[in-house]
Amino acid sequence: MASLKPNLSSARTRLMATYLSIIMALTLGFSTVLYQQSISEAQSNLIRQQSGLKDFLFFTQPEDIARINNEQLTMFRRNLLNRLVVLNVGMLVLGGGVSYVLSRRSLRPLEQTLDAQSRFTSDAAHELRTPLTAMKAEIEVALMSKTISDGDAREVLYSNLEEIGKLDTLTAALLRLARSGDSVDKSHWQDYRLTDVLESASIRLKEESSKRKISISLPKTKALIHGDPDQLIELFVPLLSNALKYSLEGTKITVTSKKSDNKIKVNIADQGIGITAVDLPHIFERFYRADQSRNKSKVNGYGLGLSLADSIAKNHNGKITVTSEYGKGSIFVVELPSA
Ligand code: ADP
Repeated sequence: MASLKPNLSSARTRLMATYLSIIMALTLGFSTVLYQQSISEAQSNLIRQQSGLKDFLFFTQPEDIARINNEQLTMFRRNLLNRLVVLNVGMLVLGGGVSYVLSRRSLRPLEQTLDAQSRFTSDAAHELRTPLTAMKAEIEVALMSKTISDGDAREVLYSNLEEIGKLDTLTAALLRLARSGDSVDKSHWQDYRLTDVLESASIRLKEESSKRKISISLPKTKALIHGDPDQLIELFVPLLSNALKYSLEGTKITVTSKKSDNKIKVNIADQGIGITAVDLPHIFERFYRADQSRNKSKVNGYGLGLSLADSIAKNHNGKITVTSEYGKGSIFVVELPSA
């Protein structure tokens, strides 16, 4: 990804050259027209003056008048040319500055996208590498001992299997995220009952929720939403899963919905650990995990769930907002156009 940077800087130079050529072509064209018009106007003025002077200057020869007029015209032409050259050089300098600023501004969104992609790739590589390094170290240690008991071998295999599981989860999340960024194919979109979508999402978390004695109450609504069913489920899974992951045992998750105008708002409220004001603006960023030391060791995750949910909501012309009180709980609000 870093190799794209030089391409970007050469694109910037080319764009700047293009802007400057346009500015200079316009200035030169304008100067040429101005020069020709001014000269022809000056010439016709002199001809008019010449015929007027003939009636008054009886003793002056017509050749002398013509010579004087020619001299005046040459001087006028020289002055005009000098001014136009100064104008064009000025425009070259000014146009260079303007083109530089414009080319930087035009390519800034592209540069930001490339930076984000490059950060994403290095974060993903880092996350993929961690389980691989752990597996490699365990296998190397096991191979170093000349004999290995059945129990030790099994332990290494179990541990490796656990790391493979993490790799599997991460690659699946990366794949889902990549798919959510693909161009949206709306041909198979349909109307679905919100309750069905929420139920399908919460079934996936049934085992975890009953293990941790956390109840999930879903709304009873006839509201319909329009979109891709799998993607809509994928939208709610990370939100419900987070509500579970970041809640203490025995607490409640309450999902409610409200229809207003042509929108449906789904609130997912938990009584969990909450999110600090410092973390709140960043939680939708890829790989961002609030308070690394507090969460990372205790709760599984890669910081990709919310960016996936956010991307799906945007694909469905919706959005996700969040309010949270640290230590008390969070409310995620999904707003989707109603069917
Ligand atoms: P993760 O896999 O870490 O859960 P997410 O992208 O789903 O990644 O969430 C990003 C971060 O936002 C989480 O690491 C967590 O710190 C915070 N977060 C998300 N949902 C909640 C919630 N319901 N309660 C508390 N913190 C949350």
